[in-house]
Amino acid sequence: MDELLSIGDFSDRCGLSAKMLRSYAAAGLLVPAAVDGSSGYRYYSTAQLHRARIIALLRRAGIAVDQIAMFFANPDAVQLDCWDRAIVSESTARRQALAQARAALALAHAPPTAQPEASMKGAEVSHAYVTGTATHIGGRDTNQDAVLVSDDLLAVADGLGGLQRGDVASRLALDTLDAAFAADRSISGLLTAGREANRAVWRQANGQDATMGTTLAALALTSDGAAVVLHVGDSRLYRFRAGRLEQLTHDHTVIADLIRAGELSEEDAHTHPYRHVLTRAIGVAPEVDIDYAGVTCEPGDRLLLCTDGLFNALSLDQLNIVLASDAEPQKSADQLVTSAVECDAEDNVTVLIIDVH
Ligand code: MN
Repeated sequence: MDELLSIGDFSDRCGLSAKMLRSYAAAGLLVPAAVDGSSGYRYYSTAQLHRARIIALLRRAGIAVDQIAMFFANPDAVQLDCWDRAIVSESTARRQALAQARAALALAHAPPTAQPEASMKGAEVSHAYVTGTATHIGGRDTNQDAVLVSDDLLAVADGLGGLQRGDVASRLALDTLDAAFAADRSISGLLTAGREANRAVWRQANGQDATMGTTLAALALTSDGAAVVLHVGDSRLYRFRAGRLEQLTHDHTVIADLIRAGELSEEDAHTHPYRHVLTRAIGVAPEVDIDYAGVTCEPGDRLLLCTDGLFNALSLDQLNIVLASDAEPQKSADQLVTSAVECDAEDNVTVLIIDVH
């Protein structure tokens, strides 16, 4: 016979409180192995610790007691996968709602009198902005970056270096985004286009039994009259205004999370072993959280979309110096890439400059 434990000892060893144990006993989920006939004390057997620990873990995962009881009727890891998917999709939906709230807030704060976004609408002012792009293979064997200059849609994508066919992933993401945004140019159409880009890469990867992924950073002028940035991963959007360079996107990387949490300094980040590890990417799962926000643009602003090859090779001061020149965007784009290559860029380097007129 297994050793019998008092409810207190059993509670200490399985991590469930005595109160919880009583409620699970009442629910028939974990019934004491023995009860003292005279005192009414409950005893659990050591063999029940295993089940108790699983219950504790499932409760911590937020699974309801009645669902756990059903699970033990037929314990199968398939059910765990089911719960896992439900948690991911619930958290995705909640985070998307938060991102939408954040974007709505940013759009509401755009200055109402200047209406800078409207001045960038291609339909009203045909030459409201001028672009320049440049890309270079850097120190890699292939260039897995891609760039898109389309009708009021500007984007860069960085196919994931460690994964197979990163070049296919980055191109496919941008082409899918382009086609889907052309069909619906509203803000919600842009978000749908982002999700379609993710699904297109995900489907392609599954079809080839490969892992594919890419970052995505896009600036779109929507039919709602807003300039909107959409991004996943560590490609960035900067705005150069009045001599100051401001990063408008927040990287989805492990180190960016650590820096935000105050657990890592910017200096130490350059040598951190996880410095290239993304927390979000396009095409590695059927759904992805996409960040988006309104961007205020004024005549004279210079916007820069770029892949990490650029800002890992050049310091902010170096970026500032090139962007501050009066050169045409194409010239400045070429110069940024040349400077990065001269600084021995290890990675592919891609830039897209947008001068707002
Ligand atoms: Mn890169």
